[in-house]
Amino acid sequence: MTGGHSGSSAHDDEPIFIPVEPDGASQRCRVCGAVDEVTRDEMPSMAGYGTDTYAQCTRCGSVELSDPIFGWRAKPATWPPTTDHEQS
Ligand SMILES: [Zn+2]
Repeated sequence: MTGGHSGSSAHDDEPIFIPVEPDGASQRCRVCGAVDEVTRDEMPSMAGYGTDTYAQCTRCGSVELSDPIFGWRAKPATWPPTTDHEQS
């Protein structure tokens, strides 16, 4: 972690998906609010050891990633999407 700055948007260290049931059976995307719209995948890491994991909201496209080298990170999408003035 490289803390220090207190940015006001797009933290990359906050979970995208948060449990909504007491047992955590369902997960809600905190970016767009979709429930159980999560595509998950995992595969052997390109690092040669461990596992890469991937979870993406099918509605807004926010992604959580983890791998043995870089650890966990999140890439929140812009929501609602801006169609007339897109920034890249
Ligand atoms: Zn979402």
